[in-house]
Amino acid sequence: MGKIIDCNKVNPASGCSHVVRGDTEEELMKNAAEHAKEHGLEPTPELLEMVKSQIEEEKIA
Ligand SMILES: [Zn+2]
Repeated sequence: MGKIIDCNKVNPASGCSHVVRGDTEEELMKNAAEHAKEHGLEPTPELLEMVKSQIEEEKIA
């Protein structure tokens, strides 16, 4: 089971419904940094801390 970050929860103002996934926290944070760039955001330590606080366990529906 992987981990996810709901972009909309990190940055509700973005109106983005993308969910970043990763099998490990390391992979997840790498993917999140890539996704931040799609928003024109620099993956700064501050931004990554904010992202990290929103990590959730992926639920199998
Ligand atoms: Zn997004």
